[in-house]
Amino acid sequence: MRKKPNGRVSRDFKGLKEWEAMATKQEKALKNKAIEYDKLYFDDFNFELGSITGDVYDFVRIKDCPQQVLDGNKLYELTPIVIKDCRFHIKEMEDAAGNCNGWDITIHPEALKNRDTILHEMVHLRINVMPNNFREILTFCLYKKIKKELKKFDSFLIDHATAIASLYNPDLWHHGTLFFLKSLDLDIRLNLDIGTVYGYSL
Ligand SMILES: [Zn+2]
Repeated sequence: MRKKPNGRVSRDFKGLKEWEAMATKQEKALKNKAIEYDKLYFDDFNFELGSITGDVYDFVRIKDCPQQVLDGNKLYELTPIVIKDCRFHIKEMEDAAGNCNGWDITIHPEALKNRDTILHEMVHLRINVMPNNFREILTFCLYKKIKKELKKFDSFLIDHATAIASLYNPDLWHHGTLFFLKSLDLDIRLNLDIGTVYGYSL
């Protein structure tokens, strides 16, 4: 897929239109559910005021349009767009309950009721389509937040980083530090066992 120089995947209006014409009722319902989860659990990705990232970008926030911030000297439109641009598919897969590739999230029919699977793929999506400089800020803010909430956090983080560095496992490359941090944040928010959102399909 095409990436912009800052790392963000380009929006695909044509693909979205095609999806809207072809998607089943169930796929549209799945997307609505994801939009709901996005509002509840991804305020940090949206740099919303009051979220852990809200203050960081407040100084460049456009006064009359709180969903837009300046990215360098370009206006970067935050989220509401992001999840609405996503295409959801329901399809059987041999070895996974879910998959995310660019703007496409695929969920296995048997995992449709599994919130953790959907959240896991949404984290992939949000990271895929986010510019690099926003990723860095979010990583730092999540680290600061979780450090206060989770005992042994640093050793979890070091174990994870070591596993990524030492194993030849492409699966882990897609589940880097930012992915790991956001998955822990979701576990904490939803009162799940640590590792639930990260590890559902691994
Ligand atoms: Zn994954």
